[in-house]
Amino acid sequence: MLYQRSSQLFAEAEKVIPGGVNSPVRAFKSVGGTPIFVKEAKGAYLYDEDGNRLVDYINSWGPMILGHAYEPVVNAVIERAKKGTSFGTPTALETEIAELAVSMVPNIDKIRFVNSGTEACMSAVRLARGYTKREKIIKFAGCYHGHSDSFLIQAGSGAVTFGSPNSPGVTQGTAKDTLLATYNDLQNVKDLFEANKDEIAAIIIEPVAGNMGCIPPAEGFLQALREVCDANGALLIFDEVMTGFRLAKGGAQQLFGVRADIVTFGKVIGGGLPVGAFAGRNEIMNYLAPVGPVYQAGTLSGNPLAMAAGLEMLKALNSDEAIFSRLEEKTAYLEKGIREKLTTANLTYTINRRGSMISVHFDANPVTDFKTAANGDNETFKKFFHGLLKEGVYIAPSAYETWFITDALTYDDLDFTINAIEKVAKEL
Ligand SMILES: *Cc1c(COP(=O)(O)O)cnc(C)c1O
Repeated sequence: MLYQRSSQLFAEAEKVIPGGVNSPVRAFKSVGGTPIFVKEAKGAYLYDEDGNRLVDYINSWGPMILGHAYEPVVNAVIERAKKGTSFGTPTALETEIAELAVSMVPNIDKIRFVNSGTEACMSAVRLARGYTKREKIIKFAGCYHGHSDSFLIQAGSGAVTFGSPNSPGVTQGTAKDTLLATYNDLQNVKDLFEANKDEIAAIIIEPVAGNMGCIPPAEGFLQALREVCDANGALLIFDEVMTGFRLAKGGAQQLFGVRADIVTFGKVIGGGLPVGAFAGRNEIMNYLAPVGPVYQAGTLSGNPLAMAAGLEMLKALNSDEAIFSRLEEKTAYLEKGIREKLTTANLTYTINRRGSMISVHFDANPVTDFKTAANGDNETFKKFFHGLLKEGVYIAPSAYETWFITDALTYDDLDFTINAIEKVAKEL
């Protein structure tokens, strides 16, 4: 496959956009080469500027769970746009999507819409601090909660690929209020509570981590965090920006049967438009302005185009009882295929999967936290990535990312992918 036009476009972009991209994960820093410029997409495929068709396993980093250019979403956006694109005053549409979200997700009475997952997590932590009147938070190394200051302490995803897990520009003052814990290490969390008595406002966690590859929580880990929070008067925040409306209708709370105090959303909830949200029970959410003292706002929050897209997406997920099991079956089929081919090629690997989130690590040991995720052989991953790209399969350009499975993928697409992996694996 040729990437002449993409390379040209990238060279032009680099002159006027830092690094040629508007979000670092899109650059090919950790795998080498230049990013693919996409012209259009439909269903399970991307069509790039050089005329190649790629089977897409990134899916806009999660949102396109029903495939690209999903018609009900596209039509809703077109129809809404004709009626005006932003008003700065309430619309009935906002209540409609809020009611639907509240009916789908356990333990939430109210939801506030914002414009990104970053905003959602930043606001959730402010709310938790205001509500508990405490300042410190616990986050887990390798978890990514967006790029706001408090979270850029050993963050996953793009932040780790770039070797700057602690970004310059984050002040010491901010950093000292973020306590770092090891994913799946309960004793570590208990020790932090012990050392910071009555100071911890909240634990924030990706209930299935997806920004250091896919790392599921150990059996009972989330429930234990719930208990530690209750025992210490802290809130439990589930960052479901990736897992929400993906692992189950009600997200990880439903899947694991563990109640969170605040849940954040993004990605799928916007149907491919810029949307984030955070939600919780009345007593917590009523702490927000204009009813409560914690300030949070947004000129374009609840934007009609974004809400129209999100509403169609949630309606589709809500009305299709089989969607999540279908996604699970497709991902399990893919996992089985990858295992066969990598084993036949005598490669050393670990595959982690939960529902429709899956990742391949080129290391034999279990991958359970940031440290073990970092043990993967990046040279092999690079070759794997570029090999697949050549075969027309597009996975995330970093070993620290999950693959996102979409319902638009057919079993033929999955077989196509598995065959590509067979070819590539022989060369690794
Ligand atoms: C993507 C992501 C975010 C950030 O969302 P943006 O919309 O990129 O700001 C936060 N948390 C998790 C778990 C994510 O995967």
